[in-house]
Amino acid sequence: MLLFGAILLIYVFYQAFIFLVTDGRYKLYKLLGHFPKKYQEYLKAYFPFYNRLPQHLRKRLEACIFTFIKEKEFIGRGIKIDDMKKVLIAADACLLTIGHDRCEYKHVKSIFVYPEAVMKHEKIANGWIVTEQDQVLLGEAWQGGEVILSWRDLVAGNQNPNDGKNVGLHEFAHQLDMEDGEADGTPPLPLQLYPRWSSIMSKEFAKLQELYKKHKKGFLDYYATTNAAEFFAVATEAFFEKSERLQKEEPELYAILKEYYNLDPASWNKNR
Ligand SMILES: [Zn+2]
Repeated sequence: MLLFGAILLIYVFYQAFIFLVTDGRYKLYKLLGHFPKKYQEYLKAYFPFYNRLPQHLRKRLEACIFTFIKEKEFIGRGIKIDDMKKVLIAADACLLTIGHDRCEYKHVKSIFVYPEAVMKHEKIANGWIVTEQDQVLLGEAWQGGEVILSWRDLVAGNQNPNDGKNVGLHEFAHQLDMEDGEADGTPPLPLQLYPRWSSIMSKEFAKLQELYKKHKKGFLDYYATTNAAEFFAVATEAFFEKSERLQKEEPELYAILKEYYNLDPASWNKNR
């Protein structure tokens, strides 16, 4: 009897430990937290996905937003950071992870927010050749856990949730991709998903490159042909923002992303 009691006690402590060290804040908040009304109003007004989400996913999104805001540092570059900015940036990040009932991005430390797109002078080294170019930058994801976002473009991306363009979703998809230390278009996956992921993603990537080579328009934006990492980020934007069309026109791509994100955005549109 005593032994049974001791085992039970150890088990309870073990479970409590796991609960607290893995996403403790997120889980506690989901259980007990009250999402501020003010935050809810920002989402209702500026984040149309919020109104489409089924109730249980909405609850997860709220808990993740709360956790994300508490854990990350938001730095304004020529723009004041307020609660609305934090909530809407966190909403993009969290939408990508709620399918697994988690608040990811352990490695993301800081989010730098600029009022609008910045010009970036870039040197690209390719063998002996270094190309220099000016690039308009809407956002950027760094391996060290920094995210750069143009506030104007983030708002525009969220305001139209059906055009397949969303810089917030794009940059946080890069962060998920980089969780295993490499920006290669393959985020950490469940083991059994790797073979199908690599076969479908490389097939779709090659197909898209081929189309644009022949000057035909693919379902995904041309930018997706840059490399595998951009293909995954752009496909993520389409998965959430053009879900029904993606499901119809590229069913394999939709299905693998649906499995990875454990979400089915095409079904949310009925809630519109
Ligand atoms: Zn990108």
